[in-house]
Amino acid sequence: MSIKNNIDSLQSELVGSACKLIAVSKTQPIEKIAEAYQAGQRLFGENKAQEMALKYEQLPKDIEWHMIGHLQTNKVKYLAPFVSLIHSVDSFKLLAEINKQAAKCSRVISCLLQMHIAREDTKFGFDENELLSLLSSHELEALKNIRVVGLMGMATFTENESLIRSEFQNLHQLYIRIKEMKLGTNVIMQELSMGMSLDYKIAIEEGSTMVRIGTAIFGERNYNQ
Ligand SMILES: *Cc1c(COP(=O)(O)O)cnc(C)c1O
Repeated sequence: MSIKNNIDSLQSELVGSACKLIAVSKTQPIEKIAEAYQAGQRLFGENKAQEMALKYEQLPKDIEWHMIGHLQTNKVKYLAPFVSLIHSVDSFKLLAEINKQAAKCSRVISCLLQMHIAREDTKFGFDENELLSLLSSHELEALKNIRVVGLMGMATFTENESLIRSEFQNLHQLYIRIKEMKLGTNVIMQELSMGMSLDYKIAIEEGSTMVRIGTAIFGERNYNQ
């Protein structure tokens, strides 16, 4: 299957749902991203700030660039001038740095808060209590150059579909609960980023508004080039 065929078939699965396709182009060369662009794809996800900045320079400016990987505070400056959405905000410190760099560019940068929903013992993401205390803090309210627009999560890497489904369900329920709370002026819950190549169908059924798909579009990644 060509990149175009893969995108067309994924887009046709999304018709009628409120879910957008983020083409995860990390490690992919410019030519492959250009091929996806020719096929009509405009939203791309990367996980390294400098790689994303290089690709931004070389590709058409109507692409929306999404940061989906763990972001170190000292790398925020590379993407602040152009990034559309940062999915992977996992600390207040990072949010404060994004706010600072966004102010330097006279921008308001949209962010998702990454939630730790998997069984796996990864280091990244908030738990529910941390999220609730962040959302009610005056420190968050004071950040005028960021906007929190939703949540992101990654399910456990497993073939156990009912485990994946229950993790997505829990995240969706949390998202709905927060949406109904009284929130600060810079918090507007409207996006729920969940689902990758192996679990996106479950994620869509469980209320995802953004699926992040790499392998099912571009094929297996080659990390050693
Ligand atoms: C790499 C990556 C993806 C895409 O993974 P695939 O399995 O190739 O679809 C999605 N989300 C995040 C956070 C990633 O790092």
